[in-house]
Amino acid sequence: MLSCWAAALALDITGLGGLADTPPLSYRATAAILVAALVFELVNLLGVATSIFLHTQQRSFTDLVGTWDDNALELVTLCLGGLTATALVYQPLLVLLIYPPLLLLHRHVLIKQLEAAVSTDEKTGLFNNTSWHHIANRELDRAKRTSGSLAIFMIDIDHFKKINDTHGHLVGDAVLKVVATTINHNVRDYDSVGRFGGEEFVVLLPDIGGQDVNEVAERVRHAVTQLAIPVGDDSTTIEGLSVSVGTAVYPFSGTALDNLIHAADTALLHAKRAGRNRVTHANGAAPKATPLAHR
Ligand code: GH3
Ligand code: MG
Ligand code: MG
Repeated sequence: MLSCWAAALALDITGLGGLADTPPLSYRATAAILVAALVFELVNLLGVATSIFLHTQQRSFTDLVGTWDDNALELVTLCLGGLTATALVYQPLLVLLIYPPLLLLHRHVLIKQLEAAVSTDEKTGLFNNTSWHHIANRELDRAKRTSGSLAIFMIDIDHFKKINDTHGHLVGDAVLKVVATTINHNVRDYDSVGRFGGEEFVVLLPDIGGQDVNEVAERVRHAVTQLAIPVGDDSTTIEGLSVSVGTAVYPFSGTALDNLIHAADTALLHAKRAGRNRVTHANGAAPKATPLAHR
């Protein structure tokens, strides 16, 4: 509303408003449309940036103003608004032509944003449980069709409760996010990392050989032990973190997704029982015996 009002005010002040009443449009009337769109966009951007700054204290330009994608819908809507104004002058019925592209555009962009929002776990930025299952089922179907392979990791942070109890749940949340990011950075781009629940994560690794399963799982485990996470204002650093990892491989450890998850979960339980901070494989998940993990 503020943007609309500002755009109208700008037209009043410059005397450009009310010119576009007879075809063909003069250059001044065209300028009126462009000025209105520009003022609308600027006031809108300023409002959004101020609001983001006040709520999050973000300072980077992209955080405040957003990416090109974030602004594209607004900009295209404004362009269509300009064309609507022109159509109104020539033949008001032509305005109907604006509706199909406008509706399609909104559907396309908004559905993409909504899809991203509903498939993401808010706290960690990973796939949430539902969307991870969706991807896993799709990849499992593909592996079956192509006689391919696929691995699943179940990862649980060791003694996580102690972090909550010692430093509070907000620090716990921050640690959770860093561990999630670390897992994501240590698997391949086309692997999918999800938050299974609480401080447990699942990773789906399509097309992976038995020996690589151990290598990737060990890489993730080792990366977490190297973390030093600064928390709070009093230069506290959280170190000595570790995760336990259970792995399962299609088709050796199971052929249905639930069976594979169960197999990886059982392997994870063995890792916990064996002393934590280690990788344990379900039957057939790794061709060779895995050495015990050392920090
Ligand atoms: P173990 O090595 O056996 O896994 O020990 P643990 O302490 O990690 O396991 P336990 O299951 O006893 O505790 C998990 C804790 O994770 C308990 C719960 O409060 C905490 N937790 C679960 N979800 C969240 C979350 O979203 N944020 C925070 N801060 N804590 C969480
Ligand atoms: Mg745990
Ligand atoms: Mg747990």
